[in-house]
Amino acid sequence: MEYMKSFEKIIAEQLVRVEKMKTADEFVDFEKLDKIVVGVIDGDGIGPIILTEARRVLNELLKAEIEAGKIELRTIEGLTLENRIAKNETVPADVLAAIKSCHVLLKGPTTTPSKADNLPNIESANVTLRRELDLFANVRPVSIPEKNLDWIFYRENTEGEYVLGSRGVDINEDISVDFKVTTTAGTKRIARAAFEYAKANGNKNVSIVTKANIMKKTDGKFLDLCYQVAKEYPDIKTDDWYVDIMAANLVNEQIRSNFNVFILPNLYGDIITDEAAQIQGGVGTAGSANVGGKYAMFEAIHGSAPRMVTDGIAPYANPSSILKAAEMLLRHIGFVAKADSLSAAVDFSQSSKNMTGDASGDTATDFADCVISKLKEA
Ligand code: NAD
Repeated sequence: MEYMKSFEKIIAEQLVRVEKMKTADEFVDFEKLDKIVVGVIDGDGIGPIILTEARRVLNELLKAEIEAGKIELRTIEGLTLENRIAKNETVPADVLAAIKSCHVLLKGPTTTPSKADNLPNIESANVTLRRELDLFANVRPVSIPEKNLDWIFYRENTEGEYVLGSRGVDINEDISVDFKVTTTAGTKRIARAAFEYAKANGNKNVSIVTKANIMKKTDGKFLDLCYQVAKEYPDIKTDDWYVDIMAANLVNEQIRSNFNVFILPNLYGDIITDEAAQIQGGVGTAGSANVGGKYAMFEAIHGSAPRMVTDGIAPYANPSSILKAAEMLLRHIGFVAKADSLSAAVDFSQSSKNMTGDASGDTATDFADCVISKLKEA
């Protein structure tokens, strides 16, 4: 029976993966660091334009901390399409080493060549960075202040239905089987990341989302382990929901503002975060972060917009999304008051600047000037 051999091989591989996770780095306690190094990566296309503005804003917002040596903004050179092609490496070794010398990253968008570009077939830098830095949590905030909604989703990014997504087996023409995997190490690390965030941001409520009544082994384990981690955070109110009712809760105006931090296995996280982003105004409006035990990378949700560069309108790129990513970075390292100030200044600038994305509107520099003057007022 060929499929039994295939199953044995899959299990053996998963056991090796688990052992690797067990020896991975523990969660960083930023409070204990003398200095936090923030790597700033320009990226491609409009990346250097919006990152220049983000750097200016952060230099103003963190002036005192930078002067005191508590924070360093360190520019990481060389994660450009030209350099990646020249070295024929997705993330050149020297760039990766420089990235690994930082604690957290603010990353500009990087271009992944498509077949039509007639360029060497370089892999996505993000896929490589997620793997190299073991960024296991996909974190997406969704906020609608006027409706009192302040949600953040911690989606497990490496297991569940996805880890063996292309390894299912057609037993015969009548039966096909896929696999779903939950591990202790994989679950505990996503749970801990979510609870650490909730703690660093004023002990927000945490909700665990599963289908543990049906998927008793995998989701059952996920749920039990999340509650085990919850015991380490006695000041945080924790509850759990099945994913079907949670999908309904998000559109239930009576109760949805009670939720803050969500922990979800991979597939449910994929679906529920798109629903939440749509409630906010569309999948393009939510920021995104990839977080690991040791490293975390914060990004604009959009790409490098190469056409804006060739059309000569790159200076009109909107830096809002990268500034939202910077806000998430500040929350991650426990700089909650700074994150709140940045959020307020970006919201104000969004309502007072006209970011049309072309010469009929304001530039990225105009937008950042507005953010900086608002920060100076505060
Ligand atoms: P894109 O998001 O780069 O751009 C699509 C369009 O959205 C642009 O032409 C522009 O009109 C608009 N736009 C995007 N960002 C904007 C901004 N800040 N201000 C104003 N308008 C903006 O999507 P794409 O064209 O599909 O991708 C271009 C490249 O980016 C591809 O190589 C892709 O692989 C890469 N990409 C990288 C990341 C990342 O690094 N995280 C994410 C997505 C796409």
